[in-house]
Amino acid sequence: MATLTDAQQRDVQYQLHPYTNAVKHQSIGPRIIERGEGIYVYDDQGNKYLEAMAGLWSVAVGFGEPRLVEAATRQMQKLPYYHTFTHKSHGPSIALAEKLIGYTQGRMASAFFTNSGSEANDTVIKMVWYYNNALDRPEKKKIIAREKGYHGVTVASGSMTGLPANHRDFDLPLPRIKHTSCPHYYHGARPGESEEAFATRMAEDLEALILKEGPETVAAFIGEPVMGAGGVIVPPRTYWDKIQAVCRKYDMLVIADEVITGFGRLGTLFGSERFNIEPDIMVLSKQISSSYQPLAAVLINDKVASVVSSHSGKLGTFGHGYTASGHPVATAVGLENLNIIEERGLVQNAAESGEVLQQALRDMAGHPLVGEVRGVGLIAAVEMVADKESHRPFEPVGTIGAPLYERAHEHGLIVRAIGDTIAFCPPLIITREEVHDMVGRFARALDDVY
Ligand code: PLP
Repeated sequence: MATLTDAQQRDVQYQLHPYTNAVKHQSIGPRIIERGEGIYVYDDQGNKYLEAMAGLWSVAVGFGEPRLVEAATRQMQKLPYYHTFTHKSHGPSIALAEKLIGYTQGRMASAFFTNSGSEANDTVIKMVWYYNNALDRPEKKKIIAREKGYHGVTVASGSMTGLPANHRDFDLPLPRIKHTSCPHYYHGARPGESEEAFATRMAEDLEALILKEGPETVAAFIGEPVMGAGGVIVPPRTYWDKIQAVCRKYDMLVIADEVITGFGRLGTLFGSERFNIEPDIMVLSKQISSSYQPLAAVLINDKVASVVSSHSGKLGTFGHGYTASGHPVATAVGLENLNIIEERGLVQNAAESGEVLQQALRDMAGHPLVGEVRGVGLIAAVEMVADKESHRPFEPVGTIGAPLYERAHEHGLIVRAIGDTIAFCPPLIITREEVHDMVGRFARALDDVY
């Protein structure tokens, strides 16, 4: 058992961590991150790490950005808190809502703020239900998400998440949340099946589920343009066109969960642009404020907004919201963060550095352990498999991913292991040279475990 420092011991004694095996944690303790600068973070032992995951897919502008500190300080001094309930508002929430709607060039009409992606997705579910109640379709309430999708961890958003660990020990999912197939061609394709045919089959699976459930009971489909936490899964090019056609056929709302893909991650402002998604509802978080403040937004288009607004006379009030919905400090920081993304051309940088990243990782495809390299823009993954020919995964899951994740730290690199898939999602400020450095560190860690 490792000797824990005083801070580690206190952590182990007093703090219960998210997504952390408590028994293992007690023996190894946490790595305590003390400060950050640019694409790097430093622990309390003086070690420096290239943060290849931008924290949790979120610190777009890098760590230690003084303009965000100043924006927060200015707002704290002026109005540290006010709410947006019952006909009250304030400048930062108005300005950020206007900016977000402006980004969508009229495709979205209105923004609702929450503190996290999970809360935003809970809000989405209630909005979809409210919408159908307002339209006198009380039976049209089921929401279809996807296996391996990730939409958060609250009881409702965690139900839409399609990962066994989020359901198994929590008695989820809720009954009105259903799951359809994950569009992962590498593992899901049948022998000889083209990507196009695979995409068609994914849409047929969705349609079959809708027909089984009864189209009059199915309200919406939710998906991430590119799946993040499920393993950075990029769907076939025509997948979203086919899925949207099915949704329109059965009068379902299309929800794009852009919590990871929003604000440049794929080299376009939104993931929806990249895949021609025309969502009725968009969910945004993480890079909206570079996670310097907890913040998320639900954007709704005119079709939804007109019902939610005009029918509120009939249903009463949209009785939903959080004490910190549109928090002035969070929205002020969000606004400044988006200004920085614009001024520094970070969406374009994500496209350019992203190309370098995708190529550098693809150059590793010949490695004996590497099964698939995938990604778009500045999000990517390398999946290690037990058998390259059949794509057979390792058993137990994590055989390579877990030690690789650990060894990466020794090369000054923080990545994420999703089973035996290693994910990369660096800050959008990363330069091409830094991308090469990041991939080089990963390659050396891989050499260590193989
Ligand atoms: N939706 C997506 C696509 C996510 O990746 C996440 C978090 O990783 C969430 C929702 C949940 O966000 P939060 O952790 O802020 O609740």
